[in-house]
Amino acid sequence: MAHLVLVLDPIHPGGIQLMRRAGLNVVEAYDMSREELKELLKNADVIIVRSQTKVTKELINAGPRLSVIARCGVGLDNVDLSAAEERGITVLNSPEASSISVAELTIGLILALLRRIPLADRSLKEGKWLKRELEGCQFYGKTLGIIGFGRIGQEVAKRALAFGVTVLAHDIDESKRSDAEKLGVVFLGSSRNSFESLLKKSDIVTIHVPLTEKTRLLIGSKELKLMKQGAYLVNTSRGEVIDEDALYQALKNGWLAGAALDVFQEEPPKNKKLISLPNVICTPHIGASTNECQMKNALEIARKILDILKID
Ligand code: NAD
Repeated sequence: MAHLVLVLDPIHPGGIQLMRRAGLNVVEAYDMSREELKELLKNADVIIVRSQTKVTKELINAGPRLSVIARCGVGLDNVDLSAAEERGITVLNSPEASSISVAELTIGLILALLRRIPLADRSLKEGKWLKRELEGCQFYGKTLGIIGFGRIGQEVAKRALAFGVTVLAHDIDESKRSDAEKLGVVFLGSSRNSFESLLKKSDIVTIHVPLTEKTRLLIGSKELKLMKQGAYLVNTSRGEVIDEDALYQALKNGWLAGAALDVFQEEPPKNKKLISLPNVICTPHIGASTNECQMKNALEIARKILDILKID
């Protein structure tokens, strides 16, 4: 009997086609209730998710035949890894595919913040001509601080350097120093001191860490207070990395000039007070939402699944 692959969040059709051609029974099961999902899981060998479906212990244990959980994308924070390990289930993801798309969105958000592009667009469409009021500032000559100098952080650095900015980086992994030096980025170090120093020196801080117990609420009121008055914060990593109440206060009282957020503690965000602030730009977790990235992600995941199931 063909292996049953349940696709629980939409992925690019290229990946689905590849698996079907190889003889897998691929079922797209979107927006299911938990009960419907548990029923389908009874016969599933593989599940594929993006960031939407939370693969909890309960869900994993509803699939007695499950041998692979595939996360199309980078973070694995929506998968209960210890529950999967207990059952001997292989968990895989596609970490390489998203970097360029997320880095491009990050640069787009920085420019949108500095030049207030969303407000310029909105006000003109509302019939206002705010030419004088909409004076922004250049990216050129500023200092950009990158927290988390992995794949995405480095792609952001390469693009930012082309704008003529000074790029600082902090990463808990000291081995990232040589990557930074090769690019012409100032690596401040891997310690708490270097993290704080980056916050103090940067005009714009951008976050590219994974969500872990150590990065949850990495940026709270103390860290925001360390940032320069009038600085900007960009987050395209995970919402839980920032204390949203503290960020709201820092933006409301004018300590920070602005923030751009692609990710939120709760998605979609129910608490609208942060996203309603005029100095906040927000996007609905679209970092990896490009055609190229989705296709690359889906093909990478499909190939890995075929490989594990030993299908040519
Ligand atoms: P990566 O693993 O290549 O890089 C993450 C870096 O963060 C590593 O170098 C790691 O050492 C560093 N790090 C970990 N904990 C840290 C800490 N406490 N302080 C400083 N540095 C720390 O991952 P990546 O591919 O660059 O992706 C980064 C994150 O971006 C992902 O984990 C994911 O959460 C997020 N992401 C978001 C989107 C989106 O749509 N917005 C898409 C893809 C990825």
